[in-house]
Amino acid sequence: MDIRALIKEEILAQKAYHVDPTSCRIKLDANENPLAIPEKLRARLSALLASIPLNRYPEAGSVRLASRFAKAFGVGEDQVMIGNGSDELIQILCTALARPGAGIMIPVPTFAMYRITGVNTGLRVMEVPLDGAFDLDLAAMREKAASRPPALPFLAYPNNPTGNCFSRERIETVLREASGIVVVDEAYFHFAEKTFLSGVGRQENLVILRTLSKVGFAAMRVAILIGAPALVHELNKVRLPYNLNSLSQAAAGFYLDNEEAFLEQAEKIRRWRGELFSALEAIPGIHPRPTDANFIFFSCDFDADRVYSALKERGILIRNFNAAMPGFMRVTVGTREENGEFLEVLRNILTE
Ligand code: PMP
Repeated sequence: MDIRALIKEEILAQKAYHVDPTSCRIKLDANENPLAIPEKLRARLSALLASIPLNRYPEAGSVRLASRFAKAFGVGEDQVMIGNGSDELIQILCTALARPGAGIMIPVPTFAMYRITGVNTGLRVMEVPLDGAFDLDLAAMREKAASRPPALPFLAYPNNPTGNCFSRERIETVLREASGIVVVDEAYFHFAEKTFLSGVGRQENLVILRTLSKVGFAAMRVAILIGAPALVHELNKVRLPYNLNSLSQAAAGFYLDNEEAFLEQAEKIRRWRGELFSALEAIPGIHPRPTDANFIFFSCDFDADRVYSALKERGILIRNFNAAMPGFMRVTVGTREENGEFLEVLRNILTE
């Protein structure tokens, strides 16, 4: 039997999202928080998780959690949906909007899952390269949209992997001109502190995504969608009933109860980001780009594949973008010690 003959063509043609399986001493490849749950909270979290009845299904639709996030964001309960990571929310959006001929529009480069999920759900993928400052190229976006406007533009704010926030005015122009649902993905909000959240009440076509993955709960897979009640109503028909397991629901509640401690970690990471940026800038041939996220996108005047592999051999994992963007790599901000070691090893490699 030829299994491939049964699979959708778009899926046959595409590559799965790549996660480097290398286990390494210093992991700076996935934009995670490098710090564990604060020591003072760990025992309480363990007790909470241990008390959960695992023989029961989780609460369908994470209703109580959605209501708590709604309050925290100052929006109605009917404007919030909780997802198993933003990845799931992206999938739900794509599934719901995949009418025949519909498309997503994404800047390039950006977060890979928009494209992968768009393709998997049968949407056309309209890619528009960013301009030289890694900002949105409005003229090119308009030109692409002219004949068939996209149903679903995705804008990561800040953008991954470039790290910058697109200019506010350009996003506002996209929101004004778009006939589809514009997703502003604020996965790195805690490091940028810039948001379009206040626009949700005013603009029906605006959707905001937030996640707990970058502030310390990547393993729990919890993300929040905020949008118009009419949209959330339809998206709830796509969401699987028990999409968020009970442990994750409890962990997200725990996050809200103790948010201050997590925000303190984010503040530390922002400080370490500044130090890492200055140190990278001081290395001849290394050119870090301005960033609002917990990672730094940089180009190097050397063979990026060699630098990436040499770092990996010494137990330091970063992300290599050399194939798509010659010379470019992305490093997540680690702890001060991890960043120090990364910098030292990098300097050594460059002088070898
Ligand atoms: N959006 C962006 C822009 C990201 O960079 C990432 C993670 N790399 C995600 C969403 C995925 O977040 P989550 O862990 O909530 O699925």
